[in-house]
Amino acid sequence: MQKALVCGAGGFIGGHLVKKLKREGYWVRGVDVKAHEYALTQADEFVLLDLREPHNCWQALNAGAGETFDEVYQLAADMGGMGFIHSAECEIMHNSALININMIDTATRMGVPRYFFSSSVCVYRDMEPGEPALTEADAVPAHPDNEYGWEKLYAERMAQTYARHYPIQVRIARFENCYGPEGTWRGGREKAPAALCRKVAEAKDGDVIEVWGDGTAIRNFTYVDDMVEGIYRLTQSEIEGAVNLGGDEYVTVSELAHLVIEISGKQLGIRYVAGPVGVHSRNFSKERSRLLNWKAPTTLRAGISRTYQWIAEQVRQAHS
Ligand code: NAD
Repeated sequence: MQKALVCGAGGFIGGHLVKKLKREGYWVRGVDVKAHEYALTQADEFVLLDLREPHNCWQALNAGAGETFDEVYQLAADMGGMGFIHSAECEIMHNSALININMIDTATRMGVPRYFFSSSVCVYRDMEPGEPALTEADAVPAHPDNEYGWEKLYAERMAQTYARHYPIQVRIARFENCYGPEGTWRGGREKAPAALCRKVAEAKDGDVIEVWGDGTAIRNFTYVDDMVEGIYRLTQSEIEGAVNLGGDEYVTVSELAHLVIEISGKQLGIRYVAGPVGVHSRNFSKERSRLLNWKAPTTLRAGISRTYQWIAEQVRQAHS
């Protein structure tokens, strides 16, 4: 039986990835600094460890009886939505860099053959609406909009450097915004789709919800089941170098907000207010991801419907 280690298994995408790997027949160890908040883990073993510490990386990677893991999925990061990214710059640069530095070094020393790293399209520069798609190679010369993107770029390069010098295969995905049930929906780390679903779920007919920015920012939102399928296929593949993982549907934040309101069936207004928004526009080539025979099949409407239902239920339980 293949053994996989999922770092960040107490988080949103890591939690869903554990389920995917179990369906694929793996023995899975999950590791995180905290337990999953919204779901019981399906990992065969779940260990609480702070991966900023090298000795904890050793412990996480020690599969027992001199064995190592066949695949390591590194999704642990100190991260959140735009509010968090703009306020916790030092934590992001310090904590996520330490996790990534120690994990790739320890995995290499312990002879892990295959290592997946979760990067982000935040490594790219800002774009203007209507600009042609950026390819993976366009990440350099580098000009990320935030420190989160700079840290990801460094961690990508670090993992690739190890792969050039040692016998470890590295696979890197640059995720577009990922959303779905069982993710952070309150507390300051939530991302736009979850924050909008929460605001709409908490509102009463006739209320006005607040949306950060002027609503014109363009984004892609990728449903989590599609994302974990892409992660899995990329890790099994022989594709070296970063690969953009995201859907083909680009919408404005305003369109997203109207869609959430429509799905809720409520009559609500929108007030655009000052807040951290991030880049103006996104548009990334999916050509390399097509080599995986992968596409994100879930429409935004279908994915947001499922996410809204889940968050509305969390809101109901929190208020009961
Ligand atoms: P998440 O915050 O839900 O999961 C990250 C997990 O890492 C959390 O459970 C957290 O507790 C854990 N972690 C943080 N510090 C740790 C430490 N010191 N030791 C061990 N675990 C620690 O985030 P997510 O949305 O599931 O994102 C997973 C990965 O994907 C991250 O690397 C993130 O940067 C990347 N990513 C996510 C998105 C997205 O839209 N969600 C987009 C681009 C990239």
